[in-house]
Amino acid sequence: MSDDRRSRRIEFLEQSDIRRMSEECARLDGLNLGQGICPLPSPPEVLDGAAEAVREDLSTYSSFRGAEPLRAAISEKLVSYNGLDVGPDDIVVTIGATGAFASAMQGLFDPGDEIAMFEPYYGYHVNAARGAGLNCSFIPLEPPTWDISRSTIEAGLSDDTRAIVVNTPVNPSGKVMSRQELEVVARVCRKHDLIAITDEIYEYFLYGDQDHISLATLPGMDERTVTISGFSKTFAITGWRLGYAAAPESLLEPIGLVNDLHYVCAPTPLQHGVARAMERLSEDYYTRMAEDFETRRDLFCEALEEAGLHPYWPNGAYYVLADVRSLGEPSARDAAMTILREAGVASVPGSAFFDSEVGEGLVRFCYAQPQDVLRQAAEQLTETFG
Ligand code: GLN
Repeated sequence: MSDDRRSRRIEFLEQSDIRRMSEECARLDGLNLGQGICPLPSPPEVLDGAAEAVREDLSTYSSFRGAEPLRAAISEKLVSYNGLDVGPDDIVVTIGATGAFASAMQGLFDPGDEIAMFEPYYGYHVNAARGAGLNCSFIPLEPPTWDISRSTIEAGLSDDTRAIVVNTPVNPSGKVMSRQELEVVARVCRKHDLIAITDEIYEYFLYGDQDHISLATLPGMDERTVTISGFSKTFAITGWRLGYAAAPESLLEPIGLVNDLHYVCAPTPLQHGVARAMERLSEDYYTRMAEDFETRRDLFCEALEEAGLHPYWPNGAYYVLADVRSLGEPSARDAAMTILREAGVASVPGSAFFDSEVGEGLVRFCYAQPQDVLRQAAEQLTETFG
């Protein structure tokens, strides 16, 4: 019998470089700045909220769209922070933003449909789309500013393109899409009748005077946008797997059906925990978090400069792409392994985020780490390569 038991549907799939580098890092006992694990303390409001809900024995399935208090809290946040015009019934709570994205791919598109993504992209978007039988097309953006223009988008579209992925702030580049750029995206969506699937999971991680703009707030976009986000990053609860999709009924219903089919619901007590935390946390929490991460960005990017691993300074999210061509390695995987072996710091090969060769000269570091770990990583990198 063949060793490869994978179905044809997932033939293309292999272990992600993100997870593979975590395993290599554990094997070599390095500092893991590869996977976006975010091992920082979660706010007590979140932990207490969930502990209370567990003790109150809120242990049964939540309703089709998710626990009512959580959907109420999410809709309030979508109105006040994102500027969307949505209510609790316009939301489905999912198993992370990843679950929302995968459910959207399965629920809204047919095999052979095409979906466009900006490059660099988050690999899980590509694989979730492919797993649902879609073809991906890529819209390459150029460092250091990764500017979006109408012609670059349109060059990435074909007659089969049904949708576009809009991830801002961007994993891995840290780009924050401007209002002007999103207006360009919106214009293209309207002209070509595209559905937009957003991923706004890093919406609170903004540096300097950046604003987060939700695509669905632009004219004519609410009817054609699935707004996706989650709590993993904002509350440092990556393992809780809680996210959501907000969309008009015709788009939301299919997402809800797939979510129900695969998962029935997200863990109920954790949904209540996050709902309670959202009520109890003040605005301050979010702004302080962004400031803390800006300090981390500065510390780590300065170290990369000193080490000669040229960073493309991010404006948002908590990753940085570094140009590692000075190491003279033949591929990004080789470069990432050299950095791990010689400096004891794990990263993710840039090739995981690019269809083109550009990724072979890059690695991605994640600086969502406690200050002492970051400082240690910075020291090891500058001492080894500086
Ligand atoms: N989003 C995180 C990253 O980009 C974690 C993803 C994962 O572990 N699959 O690293």
